[in-house]
Amino acid sequence: MSAEIIDGKAFAAALRGQVAQAVPAFVEAKGRKPGLAVVLIGGDPASKVYVRAKVKATLEAGLESFEHQLPETTAQRDLVALVERLNEDGRVDGILVQLPLPAPINEKAVIAVIDPAKDVDGFHVANAGALAVGEKSLVPCTPFGALALLKHRLGDLSGLEAVVVGRSNIVGKPMAQLLLQQNCTVTIAHSRTRDLPEVIRRGDIVVAAIGRPQMIRGEWLKPGATVIDVGINRIVVDNQGGTRLVGDVDFDSATEVAGAITPVPGGVGPMTIAVLLRNTLVAAHARAGLPAPEGL
Ligand code: NDP
Repeated sequence: MSAEIIDGKAFAAALRGQVAQAVPAFVEAKGRKPGLAVVLIGGDPASKVYVRAKVKATLEAGLESFEHQLPETTAQRDLVALVERLNEDGRVDGILVQLPLPAPINEKAVIAVIDPAKDVDGFHVANAGALAVGEKSLVPCTPFGALALLKHRLGDLSGLEAVVVGRSNIVGKPMAQLLLQQNCTVTIAHSRTRDLPEVIRRGDIVVAAIGRPQMIRGEWLKPGATVIDVGINRIVVDNQGGTRLVGDVDFDSATEVAGAITPVPGGVGPMTIAVLLRNTLVAAHARAGLPAPEGL
């Protein structure tokens, strides 16, 4: 068997297109574009790459982008003051503070200051709590994107066994909540799980959000399972220092057993930015008292 490859890149392009199509109606109603503010502290190369990609996608979708690049030495109180200004700024519908933040800044304390209505990353406890109790909220981008891919591939998820490997606040936990809302029977596995292969073999759906290159092997999967590989790991592939990106799933052995699988790169990754734009648009409509754009 050879699994269907789920094309997250194409799906994300379509979602970005949907966002772009909905922008003119917002501009007509409110006389301004929806705005996303991105805050980057320090010069972490990976964060810089992500922020550049986010800004580019924001502008391409016709949204307003507000960039704030602060030095590594920025004091927490200055970052908090900036977030407070962005909370008050009527042109800003979404605030994204790029993580990780350099020590000694306390990430939790900074996230706590973001207005939940502008928390397009969905990391504020108010949004995490709303998701947990099934109320409308801004949902973290990566799990939301992963769920969109699953629904596209499988349609109704009701009654399916879903195994989420990883319990972080930004991926694993919200992923499990979303799958539960879809009436899946959800198992959350983590580093203390006993006999992980046996747990994973239950999954009609397996979501891997671990951060361990190629850890989940094809032999662990239930034949025909749909596999969403959230992991992004850079591995060295030759002795000249050449590297490549791989997921948390061993793609080659998994494609022999799975029914469908997301590749790395080109699977969940592109969905994250597309959902960020979607969340910004949705936040803009909610703040403006407008109904959410159809289909988003
Ligand atoms: P974290 O490090 O915060 O969480 C990793 C989780 O995996 C933890 O819950 C941990 O368990 C669990 N884990 C670690 N080792 C094992 C193991 N041997 N067996 C079972 N479970 C294990 O990572 P994130 O959730 O932030 O990210 C996960 C992956 O997803 C990373 O590769 C990251 O780069 C990627 N990512 C990709 C995004 C995208 O846009 N595609 C966005 C965000 C992340 P425990 O809690 O017990 O320690």
